[in-house]
Amino acid sequence: METNLFREHERNSADFLKEILNKEGFRLTSQRQKILELFNAEGGEHHLCAEEIHQKLAEQGEKISVSTVYRALHVMVNLGLLQELELAEERKYYELRSPVLHQHHHLVCVHCGEVNEFEDAIITQVSGHETQERGFSLLNSQFTVYGICPRCQGRYIN
Ligand SMILES: [Zn+2]
Ligand SMILES: [Zn+2]
Repeated sequence: METNLFREHERNSADFLKEILNKEGFRLTSQRQKILELFNAEGGEHHLCAEEIHQKLAEQGEKISVSTVYRALHVMVNLGLLQELELAEERKYYELRSPVLHQHHHLVCVHCGEVNEFEDAIITQVSGHETQERGFSLLNSQFTVYGICPRCQGRYIN
């Protein structure tokens, strides 16, 4: 049930953003549109890096270079469509931008890269408090926790 709600929300936010962009006179190029669709189509896995996006587009018969994917991602982050995530040192991951109240956070294993998502109202509260104190308006509060997952801990002990 929770998952369905989240998917519904993702789809709506993409539609909503498209609407805004069209009103503002931006046009989503078909390539950017296809990239957005990848995020919407993904099941549980909705964090993608540029290489994975390139791979998936290639599987769909889309002829697009990795550098074009990088540029498109950069533009979409600036437009507020996608959120850039610092999940790994060597590459950036992206996900659909969600409203502050529906934001989730990430717990990442530094060895195997496994990503767990969690929600925590306290993080939103603290962010709200801090921004308010300083007269900011809150746009985004992403929290990333790095650790070693149980499986990798086992590997290290044995
Ligand atoms: Zn691990
Ligand atoms: Zn996420």
